[in-house]
Amino acid sequence: MTNERYDAVVIGAGMSGLAAGIRLAQFDKRVVVLDRHSLWGGLNSFYKRGGRRFDTGLHALTNWVPATEKSTPLPKLLRQLRIPREELQLAEQSHSIVKVGAVSLEFGNGIGRLEASVAHAFPREIDGFRRLVSAIQAHDPFSDVVDASSARVRLGEWLRDPLLIECLIVPVAFYGSAREDEVEWDLFVVLFRSMFLEGLARPMGGIKTLLDALKKRFLDCGGILRMRSGVSRIVRDAHGAACGVQLDDGELLACERVLSSAGRVETQRLCDVPPQPAEVGQLSFCETTSVLSQPTRSLGHTATMVFFSTSEHFAYRRPAGLIDTTSGVVCASDNYAHHEFGEAGIVRVTCLANHAVWSGLDDEAYAAAKTQVAQEMLAAAGRVALDPRPWTSAFDMFTPKTIHRYTGHVNGAVYGSPVKARDGSIGVDKLHLIGTDQGTLGIIGSLLSGVTAANRHILMANQR
Ligand SMILES: Cc1cc2nc3c(=O)[nH]c(=O)nc-3n(C[C@H](O)[C@H](O)[C@H](O)COP(=O)(O)OP(=O)(O)OC[C@H]3O[C@@H](n4cnc5c(N)ncnc54)[C@H](O)[C@@H]3O)c2cc1C
Repeated sequence: MTNERYDAVVIGAGMSGLAAGIRLAQFDKRVVVLDRHSLWGGLNSFYKRGGRRFDTGLHALTNWVPATEKSTPLPKLLRQLRIPREELQLAEQSHSIVKVGAVSLEFGNGIGRLEASVAHAFPREIDGFRRLVSAIQAHDPFSDVVDASSARVRLGEWLRDPLLIECLIVPVAFYGSAREDEVEWDLFVVLFRSMFLEGLARPMGGIKTLLDALKKRFLDCGGILRMRSGVSRIVRDAHGAACGVQLDDGELLACERVLSSAGRVETQRLCDVPPQPAEVGQLSFCETTSVLSQPTRSLGHTATMVFFSTSEHFAYRRPAGLIDTTSGVVCASDNYAHHEFGEAGIVRVTCLANHAVWSGLDDEAYAAAKTQVAQEMLAAAGRVALDPRPWTSAFDMFTPKTIHRYTGHVNGAVYGSPVKARDGSIGVDKLHLIGTDQGTLGIIGSLLSGVTAANRHILMANQR
């Protein structure tokens, strides 16, 4: 091992890793954040193609609240990271839509528009819906004891119409469930709050604006960021506790604690602990991005997001073939209040996909499959929102293989393992999971996870 000893080594320069790093560096801890890739951001990053910058995802920053609100996750998080909200220049969504079968619901920021929409489409359910909202406001989804009961079953305590239940499950599943055909109650509560009680926004400039703010803050506080520094092994001492990491090139770094955002199964492998089959995530996506020659609103499509399932029985599971276009998400990134794309439009379409099927293709078949699947996805978008093809000036797409390549997630599992570790433990002392597999999802959830883990396992542990 090298002579220098870090207070913490953080594996992964995604949202959770950067947030943990900032929190520790702020309190003068010696912390290094390592990532195998050349660009930080993890699942939510950016790249350039044909002179144009693409976000690798970013539909929406959840948890938007007015600037006067101080006690919800977004303002609390920004305070902990000491990032001024103005730096993000957040613009609100126009409105969004959930379409299941023949039914449509609309929502905006704050619960008002969704409540009115439920009253209109499901008049017999509105009292139950209001009681559900009150129950969600009263529930604490962040305790260490996870309530993993089925959200579909729990929703039946307040709602009788299975179609309304399905309408609430579709957006929440797409924004964070790692379980096939299921959403855990705690996750449902977190995402319902962050999407429907709070709301959706976009930083001006996209994900790069947030990532620039995080990286600058980390480096300004004295943190060390090492890109192209993959971790091949977590080193353990004679008692089995984590005490360092080995990099792909063999270099050894010694530390007091390891925080890992690599994922549950992936981190177990770094410790030579074999994962159980049930711990391996299966859910992955394909996503297309179309740049349009004119704003989507000028084409009559004014919604920011459309979450859809053409079937009243939403199948949230790994499809048997390459793709499942019976459900998905259509995001018009230019339908946010700041209209930052000027005279262009940006439409993203996301559908469930099967990593094993994509990985089984040779290069030629893979390229052909991308072309074919893109057409199917864009046609599906046309049936529920807008088919962007006639106005497309630039196009790109990713598959589950891309997600695997850039994040290391087994099976390209976007939301990681179905088995979450709320306390961050996988049974190895001084090693803590952060991010996706700690069980708080999305950009804000992952940032919160990093901050909370740094506070709990290192900053507060040192005070005891
Ligand atoms: C297409 C897409 C769109 C999304 N859109 C949104 C959205 O609009 N809003 C939202 O809130 N959420 C969105 N999400 C989810 C959100 O991106 C994630 O929840 C969040 O970014 C996860 O952050 P993380 O820190 O937990 O992990 P990750 O982002 O997975 O970061 C982990 C990092 O660890 C690195 N790593 C892994 N193994 C090693 C190793 N052995 N050595 C070194 N480095 C390693 C990886 O390279 C990666 O950079 C989206 C996700 C995807 C895939």
